[in-house]
Amino acid sequence: MTGHAIVIGGGIGGLAAAVALRRIGWRVDVLERVPAFGEVGAGLSQSPNAMRALAELGLADQAEAASMPTWATHAMRLPSGRHLMRAPAGGRPPLRAFRRAALHRLLLQALPEDVVHTGVEVTGLAQDSGKVTVTCTTGRREADLVVGADGIHSLTRRLLWPHAPAPRFLGYTAWLGLAGTSIPVSGSITLGRGRYFLIHPVAPSQVYWALGTAADRPGVRFDDEPEQVRRRVSGWHDPIPALLEATPSEQVRHIDIHELPDLPAYTSGRIALLGDAAHAMSPDRGQGAGQSIEDAVVLAAALAAGASVPAALDAYDARRRPRTQAVARGARQAGHQMIDAGPISHALAVLALRVTPSTLWARLAPRALGPLWDWTPTALHPSLT
Ligand SMILES: Cc1cc2nc3c(=O)[nH]c(=O)nc-3n(C[C@H](O)[C@H](O)[C@H](O)COP(=O)(O)OP(=O)(O)OC[C@H]3O[C@@H](n4cnc5c(N)ncnc54)[C@H](O)[C@@H]3O)c2cc1C
Repeated sequence: MTGHAIVIGGGIGGLAAAVALRRIGWRVDVLERVPAFGEVGAGLSQSPNAMRALAELGLADQAEAASMPTWATHAMRLPSGRHLMRAPAGGRPPLRAFRRAALHRLLLQALPEDVVHTGVEVTGLAQDSGKVTVTCTTGRREADLVVGADGIHSLTRRLLWPHAPAPRFLGYTAWLGLAGTSIPVSGSITLGRGRYFLIHPVAPSQVYWALGTAADRPGVRFDDEPEQVRRRVSGWHDPIPALLEATPSEQVRHIDIHELPDLPAYTSGRIALLGDAAHAMSPDRGQGAGQSIEDAVVLAAALAAGASVPAALDAYDARRRPRTQAVARGARQAGHQMIDAGPISHALAVLALRVTPSTLWARLAPRALGPLWDWTPTALHPSLT
């Protein structure tokens, strides 16, 4: 089955959906409200499941070239610098880290120029049994399928389910930055009490860092945000001070962490939600964007195999909702363990990590993350893969 799809939102999820749909022969228009894409965000990591989904989009080489190998869960330290867990010498890092803009750009470059329409905001949706009508700031358009990839505050979701619960604050806040430096780093997490500092190399002379810390309420902002980071990790081990020093102030972002409560459905008729619009999650498993890329591949596979758009969307919902909601639960628990742990839980977690030999951890961590990282996509189009 082929047809014409409108994708609302040109973030990582929306662009991945457009690439996937084009691979199965659909005509696609992406409507994005921002007038132009800039250097969006800081960095992110992608785990093996997400890299396989990118490969299914035909982007394996581009993704490899745009990212750096990195460790995180296997290389844990205390603020003093003491190693709780060392990455195995000579081992292959399980993750790839990207500048967020680099991942976004490689998806954008996989699309012809006339597919993505920036500066177009969607304001309304209506559907009957044969088509969906999208109202936007440039008029009305019709499509066989609409994909709502419009992020955590999705208008598509609010129009479909006006009474669905709003995103909820998870009780922590994060500062993110991109340091321009060639200090060699290989990816690590430093565990303090109620806060953690994550480091990923994203390019030969760029390092992404994130500080997550508990917060009573969202929306608290400071005149000097970099100073707030320095204050919270004062005395922490090298290279943290040097990374902060090498981060221009304008490269420091402060965001509050929210998640979307589980939705009862991701689809309605000819409209599907995808990415954060469907399942915005805590960043603590590094999965939000990766899950949106998985969504894109599964959606296209369901459409390629489906007898009708609504039937294909039912199959998409059945495959994606259980997995993404389980991933979101795991991410919430992981964040809770790192951020909300009281002094006793923190001490016990540190002790457990300290007494686990790195070689054992290197075997245990992939096993614990197995169901998440082992995901393998259905081939989208045998003749293209
Ligand atoms: C601190 C932090 C760290 C993270 N780290 C990772 C990580 O390491 N790995 C990972 O995989 N994920 C990570 N994530 C999650 C990831 O960033 C998101 O899950 C992902 O970017 C969501 O992409 P999306 O396309 O669904 O939504 P978005 O990126 O929010 O894109 C939505 C787009 O829709 C547009 N839009 C909205 N409304 C309209 C409208 N009405 N009309 C037209 N356009 C509209 C917006 O302008 C936007 O461009 C992290 C998130 C956070 C907060």
